[in-house]
Amino acid sequence: MRIVRIGPGTPLLAVVLVVLPVFLDLYKAHVAVLILLFVMVAIGLSLVMGFGGQVNLAQAAFFGTGAYVSAILTSTYGWNPWLAAPVAILSTCLMALVVGLPALRVQSHYLGIVSLGLAVAFASLLTNATFTGGASGISKIPPLPMPGVDLTDDYNDYYLVLAVLALLVALARLIAGTTLGRRLRAMRDDTLAAAASGIEIPYYRLLAFLLGGLFAGVAGVFYAHIVRYVSPDTFGLDTMFLLLAMVIIGGQDSVWGAAVGAALLIAARNLLTGLEAYQQLVYGALIVATVVFAPRGLAGAASAARRRLSFPWPTLPFPVPGPRRPPAPPPSVPEVRDPGAPATVALKVEAVSKRFRGLAALSEVSLEVAAGEIHGIIGPNGSGKTTLFNVISGIERPNGGRVEVHGRDVTGRRAHQMSRLGVARTFQNLRLFPRLTVVENVMVALDRDPVRAHLRYLVAPWSVLARERRHRERALRLLAEFRLESVAGEPAVSLPYGRQRQVEIARALAGRPSLLLLDEPAAGLNAAEQEDLKALIRRIRDAGVTVIVIEHNMGLVMSVCERLTVLAHGRVIASGTPWEVSRDAQVIEAYLGRDTAHQEAV
Ligand code: ADP
Ligand code: MG
Repeated sequence: MRIVRIGPGTPLLAVVLVVLPVFLDLYKAHVAVLILLFVMVAIGLSLVMGFGGQVNLAQAAFFGTGAYVSAILTSTYGWNPWLAAPVAILSTCLMALVVGLPALRVQSHYLGIVSLGLAVAFASLLTNATFTGGASGISKIPPLPMPGVDLTDDYNDYYLVLAVLALLVALARLIAGTTLGRRLRAMRDDTLAAAASGIEIPYYRLLAFLLGGLFAGVAGVFYAHIVRYVSPDTFGLDTMFLLLAMVIIGGQDSVWGAAVGAALLIAARNLLTGLEAYQQLVYGALIVATVVFAPRGLAGAASAARRRLSFPWPTLPFPVPGPRRPPAPPPSVPEVRDPGAPATVALKVEAVSKRFRGLAALSEVSLEVAAGEIHGIIGPNGSGKTTLFNVISGIERPNGGRVEVHGRDVTGRRAHQMSRLGVARTFQNLRLFPRLTVVENVMVALDRDPVRAHLRYLVAPWSVLARERRHRERALRLLAEFRLESVAGEPAVSLPYGRQRQVEIARALAGRPSLLLLDEPAAGLNAAEQEDLKALIRRIRDAGVTVIVIEHNMGLVMSVCERLTVLAHGRVIASGTPWEVSRDAQVIEAYLGRDTAHQEAV
């Protein structure tokens, strides 16, 4: 499987772009340069918004920051443009981080409003400050000096900008096709599941903004020195709206989509000169048409068309389940128990309480799970089982008490930390990353690189590809153990429910946990799938993983679990072997109900 696909289209496009200026007059060559610059800005926006899911309405302001900083440093302070350029790009990145800070607290439309507010403040600063030249802007910005090449010539500019854009597209495509892009998309699809898979959400929110700033900053610098004039209205809300339109029409999480959207809209804008009154109306109409007819933009429509053309549709919906063969044990699950060590306690929960406003979801819950045990947690609906998992996996902080994993106090650690400490979980209501493929879902959890490893994208991009290949192979091997390899490339949501459950367990195992928390894994499974699940749970344990399973299916609990803890109204009412628990008077009354208990006892 290729990681970053380079189809025949890419060299073809390169040839077209290289010979294009031959057919353009001076004005059109200038428009072409503007298109290339806007493609950069739009790709940046698609990384923040399309990939990272961070509503960023300040991308035009980032573009303006790059342009203005370079313009001011060169025009006012006489810096060499090549020296001003990196400073301007860094300033834009910094600005993007500042604008991104609110994303740590608010999301979606709130974030949109906050970033819009900052963008408006920026536009107002440009218009009113003196160092920015006020409303009339800064003119006579020096061109980029380059020995032997006249960069006041639009044809030369075109090739310079094309070369820079090629580098940026390569970087964006690398990001999109590998860890960083996948983590951003995972965060966008399901923040909670992403955190539980080891992703440090705050960093990635900021990283998304940083990428948006980087691309806009580079474009801004070239804009300033090529157009040689900057004024506030170039970087205002009209431009922001245009950028949004580009990304929405092009397709939010596609680098090519953003590029095509940018090219189309800048070309359209130039066709509409003289009709300014109708410009925004036309963009608006295009957006509405896109949202209605191609909600995933041109890129989404194109990939749907490609799939339709290349698949013998509709004869091949889903792999026919083969003969029922139990999947092999997952060898990728590590042996975590040190054979020389005495039997240890994998999880110790001491007097944990969790209140939601007035409601005590957990009151002084204590339990101990030995390493290598399959432990069941049962209890009526609303008894606090899921809340207990949320506390253990770092999704909720307890109001009191202590959680120890393998003897280490982890109380109050956050979800991504718990994931990295070897605690993996599944969710009661499936939380796959719906727009990621099956194999990508697994790869998100399998890849344990720290955030700083993303520096590789800049200093050693080839090593990113090598790691990606290794991770993909490992993910495919893991999927093969679940007999899911044939659907590895399908979007996770397209799978039947039972298989999605399997993908979620595969994803949880991908992080090589030592403690696995399964929240009602049998819910919604048919009888055969439940049998598979029992076998799977045993094999996971045999591979050295401690398993805690919340389950309502008593058949499964009684046959698989070695010990049980029973919760009712947030309290532990019984614990012991399934046999002991099934005879406990309190359990019989609180949980099983008198009649059931009576029948079982008989
Ligand atoms: P179970 O998994 O045993 O069915 P839960 O742990 O989901 O139970 O819920 C226990 C109680 O806590 C329920 O009354 C539920 O409504 C409440 N609860 C759970 N999560 C929250 C939350 N995030 N906010 C408020 N109440 C919650
Ligand atoms: Mg629950």
